[in-house]
Amino acid sequence: MHQNGGHCQPALYCGDPEISRLEIQNYHYISQMIQNCGIDCDWQPRGAVTAFFTDDDFARAIEKLEKSKDDMPEIMGYLRVVSPQSKSPSLRDLGVPKAKGAILNTLAASLWPYKLIARVVEDLIEQRPEFNLQTNTPVQSIEPVAESSARSWRLRTSRGNCMVKHVLLATNGYTSHLLPSMKHIIRPVRGNMIAGHGGAELLLHNSYGLVDELTGEEYKDLQRTNRRLVGDGEYLMQRPSEHQMNGMGKSPILTLGGARFMIPNSGYGLSDDSVIDQPANEFLRGRLSQVLDVVAQAPNDFKVTHEWTGILGYSKDGSPWIGELQDGLWLCVGYSGHGMPQAALCAVRVATMILEHFPGFSRKAESQIQLPTRFLITPERLKSNRFPNLGTSRLSSQGVVWRSWQSGLFLLMALGSWVWHHESSR
Ligand SMILES: Cc1cc2nc3c(=O)[nH]c(=O)nc-3n(C[C@H](O)[C@H](O)[C@H](O)COP(=O)(O)OP(=O)(O)OC[C@H]3O[C@@H](n4cnc5c(N)ncnc54)[C@H](O)[C@@H]3O)c2cc1C
Repeated sequence: MHQNGGHCQPALYCGDPEISRLEIQNYHYISQMIQNCGIDCDWQPRGAVTAFFTDDDFARAIEKLEKSKDDMPEIMGYLRVVSPQSKSPSLRDLGVPKAKGAILNTLAASLWPYKLIARVVEDLIEQRPEFNLQTNTPVQSIEPVAESSARSWRLRTSRGNCMVKHVLLATNGYTSHLLPSMKHIIRPVRGNMIAGHGGAELLLHNSYGLVDELTGEEYKDLQRTNRRLVGDGEYLMQRPSEHQMNGMGKSPILTLGGARFMIPNSGYGLSDDSVIDQPANEFLRGRLSQVLDVVAQAPNDFKVTHEWTGILGYSKDGSPWIGELQDGLWLCVGYSGHGMPQAALCAVRVATMILEHFPGFSRKAESQIQLPTRFLITPERLKSNRFPNLGTSRLSSQGVVWRSWQSGLFLLMALGSWVWHHESSR
């Protein structure tokens, strides 16, 4: 989670109204929770500009938008199409004069996800005596317990074992570490990010997605490992710096991620986040001045101070896998790089699916969250989605329950009174 770029942008023209509806609802859920609980996590609603640098990419996006608009006209309340002829705003106003077109989504926010989750954990520890958090305790294996008449699962850890009737994996890219059969369905993918300070003038009013195929003259010497995937690109967010927050000065922090095409196999199959992919980060360092007007004017103003990698969980069909895989074995995994706008409500919903097995449970609002059909685990989906054979994921650094953030914590909130049956260590 601390590796996440902090961009929460619902996909409003993805072509599936069920997904767009869930993501809008999820955005408001997070926003209201932050407001109601007074959580200081730099939540900043700001427009998200997706800038397209080839005519083809722009045309493809407009086609999708037109189709989505037919199914869900209300999305146009949030979206603005900005073509080279547009005046207010123009592409220059958006800071991307070289783009062939852009779509501005006003339902988007940037935040510091770690601050949000740290506060949720603090509240749980203070307010819920039954909340039990085992840090630095990766689960080493999960197995069904044969001797028990009612199906149970045994979770082995270095600090002892647990027997549980229901277990939910919120392990995203690492899922196949515990469930090798999932290696065909969810793959770990390594993503790179850099962050740095801009100069005083480098204040952006929007976040950015930068989409192009990198075929122009300026890219002719680029040593890339893969072709860009359609729609692939870089993404850029701005955080208020502490100084700026205190009104003491202006030095915003920019975070930029992407460039996966610069690493072998676009990062697919890599589950080690202790390594930085230098070619990707070098590309990212140069990327801003190529496309962003304000940076191009003063390229030396942007100083990179941090770089890191993190592991994403990509599913074969691009959608998360939510629901019961086998009796009592549940998943909410595979957000495919888009967890901020989905994970909270997916986790709340799957938690209520589990609690619905317990007599007396009645939380109508949560039970009515409509997950998109294509997110649900079904036998048909299991059969028709398989990556070619590949190794299982490994936990590179210490996989810790503490680090299992979005899904895990929203799950834990919903499962406030969960009872764990501990089995003595063998
Ligand atoms: C560099 C980077 C930038 C990103 N930027 C964005 C962004 O701007 N916007 C956006 O929407 N999404 C972004 N994402 C994707 C987003 O972070 C994920 O979709 C989101 O984190 C998914 O949440 P999760 O809780 O399901 O999984 P994760 O955050 O991946 O958490 C899974 C956790 O499970 C733990 N775990 C795994 N196995 C075990 C085990 N055996 N025992 C105990 N614990 C275990 C791991 O330690 C890990 O911390 C980014 C991802 C990366 C890597």
